[in-house]
Formats: sequence, structure tokens, C-alpha cells
Amino acid sequence: MERKRIYLSSPTMHGKEQEFVKEAFDTNWVAPLGPNVNEFEKELAGYVGASHAAALASGTAAIHLALKLAGVKEGDIVFVPTLTFSATCNPVVYEKAIPVFIDSETDTWNMSPEALERAFEKYPHPKAVIAVHLYGTPAKLDEIMDICKRHDTVLIEDAAESLSSVYKGKQTGTFGKFGIYSFNGNKIITTSGGGMLVSEDGDMIQKARFLSTQARDPARHYQHSQIGYNYRMSNVIAGIGRGQLLSLEEHKRKKKEIYQRYQTAFSDIEEITMNPLHPDGDANCWLSCMTMAEGCKVKKDMVLDALEAENIECRPIWKPMHLQPVFEGCDFITLCQGGKSVAEDIFDRGVCLPSDIKNTDEDMERIIGIIRELYV
Ligand SMILES: *Cc1c(COP(=O)(O)O)cnc(C)c1O
Repeated sequence: MERKRIYLSSPTMHGKEQEFVKEAFDTNWVAPLGPNVNEFEKELAGYVGASHAAALASGTAAIHLALKLAGVKEGDIVFVPTLTFSATCNPVVYEKAIPVFIDSETDTWNMSPEALERAFEKYPHPKAVIAVHLYGTPAKLDEIMDICKRHDTVLIEDAAESLSSVYKGKQTGTFGKFGIYSFNGNKIITTSGGGMLVSEDGDMIQKARFLSTQARDPARHYQHSQIGYNYRMSNVIAGIGRGQLLSLEEHKRKKKEIYQRYQTAFSDIEEITMNPLHPDGDANCWLSCMTMAEGCKVKKDMVLDALEAENIECRPIWKPMHLQPVFEGCDFITLCQGGKSVAEDIFDRGVCLPSDIKNTDEDMERIIGIIRELYV
């Protein structure tokens, strides 16, 4: 008999989402504008403590517009962490700018401030820096912000994975000039697909709304003096988002419970280390990850094979961008001389564990049992 499928991170709906969607239908606001869009922007901005927000079709679209608003143009350099999902850096290439990849540090797995400093020595005038809070763990923002400030460079925070994570009392995504969130199907809250751009700069967010709706100049006829995009969030989708936002804290609590459960369950296995949580932060634990010690008899693929054989979804750590065929030839800044970079080492030894908040106690026991079995 096929065993019940266990997911990495799948959507969890509660019913309130449908009420907002129904309202959109009942009032015929089935369009890329409407009350849900406006309210979702206000409610999300209120939750994270940002002054302004623009609801968009995806997190990728939000990164793209952030880069445009930061003035990134053809030939400009943008510093991006290598250990991330490709959507962080693809928009750099949409603008024909050049991504330079930065290695991770071991404390949070995020962009190493030391390597970032080194990158500025080699390329003194990048147009922007994108920081990512991988798997929900805040990056070393104090250090990164200080470096960006000293070099007078715009910081964009890709908080796609870290909505609700807090760094030193403040929500991730609100430290940079721009912050972006994603509501893709696997994120901590989802609208099936969607994103948000936040900033303290209201003019910039107004400009983002303008660019996201085909850049229509104020005129009776369709008049355009810039290239626009069709990046606005629909009012139906925004209704899902408003409903999901009401459960964000609950989702975070459950994600953290999952992490703690794994941590406790593997605490006696010396070869297993869980992904780091920032000591000055409160991570949302979007995905729980484990690494196996160097030279351990249990290899990454053995864990992946064992879980997949039991119909349990799992995934390697994101493969670093500087190792991706599509980014071959891009520069990579690391402090490691010879041997493996920090990001590659994490990739080689790391696995994302099922972190679905609908996992039952029994599901968690099944997953943990399968992994423990490999270590006996
Ligand atoms: C999911 C994700 C994105 C992209 O968000 P979409 O809404 O899917 O476009 C960007 N960056 C990171 C780090 C992500 O995990």
C-alpha cells in the first residue's frame, strides 16, 4: 500500500481566505485592483512595520522592480549571495546587469559580511546588494547594513523565505531600502502565487505600482513614456493573502515546533547538526534543515533516498548559484583559499527536511525514525 505523502511545505488554508475571495466575487472585483489589494498592502505593511507596500504578482517581480527602482542598468554589478534560490538573481540578468556571487558564513548560512567587504575591494561601485534570509534565518544585518552604508550602496532584502522572522526586534524585510516577500505555494503563507514590495519611501512604492500596471501616464488615452510590466496582484489573490495573514503567527509557531522537534530528536546523534538560527533573531523556521558531519558514513543522498522511498518529500540544500550552468563565468567571492567554499560545503552535506505544518505527530515520528535508522 502506498504510504501517505508527506510534504516539504505545502499550502495550509483555514477558510477565512475563501470569505475574502467570495467578497471579491460578490462585488465583482475580479481584477488586478480592488479593495482586497489595497487592504492586503496595508495589513502586510502593518504586520511587518513598513510604511508602504505594493502587492505584486510574485516575489520575483518584486525583486525585479526593486532593482529597477534602485537604478540598476545594463552592465551594473549587483552583489548576491550564492546560497539562495535562483529567483534572487534572475531579475539582475533581466536588466542585463551582472551578478557577483558572495559566499556564505557558517553562523547563519547567509551572505558573509567579510566576503561582502572583499567584494567591495574588487568591485568598489556595485549598484545594489541583495541580502537573503535563507530558510527564514536572518542574515547578519547589522554588519551588512554597515558595509552598504559605508559604500553608499542600496540594500535590497529578499525576505521571500523569512516573512515573520525578526532580527533584533524588527521584522526582516524592513532593514533595506527595499524588502520583498513571496506568497508562492510553498512559503510560510501563500496566495498560490504573489509577492510584496515594501519600503519607507512612499514615492518609490507609488512608482512600483505605476511600473507594475503597464506604466500608464496620466492621460485620457493610453500614453506611455516608459516600458511597463504586468506585475500587479489580482484582487482575488489578495483575498487569499488577507485570510492567510490572519494565520501567519500560528504558522510561525508550528514551523518553530517542527524545528525544535527535529533538534530534540537528533540531539544524541553527534553527526547531525540542524541549520543555524540567528542568536539575535527569532527565525520563522520556514524549512528545517540538517547537515551531516564531514566524513560521516551517512551521506546526503542516503537521507534523500530513504525519505523518498517512503513517499516523503525532501530536497537538497539550494545548489549555490556560482555552480549553476546558467551563471557559469560569473565571479564568485569567497574567503576560502582552495578547497570548498562555505556554500558548497553546506550544499554537499545538507538536506531540507519535511517542514509542513500539517504534519501530525505520527508523520514526524515516521520521518525521524527513518533518519535515525540510518545512523544505527
Ligand atoms: C521563493 C523565493 C523567491 C521568489 O518568489 P516567487 O514569489 O516564487 O517569485 C525569491 N527568493 C527566494 C529566496 C525564494 O525562496
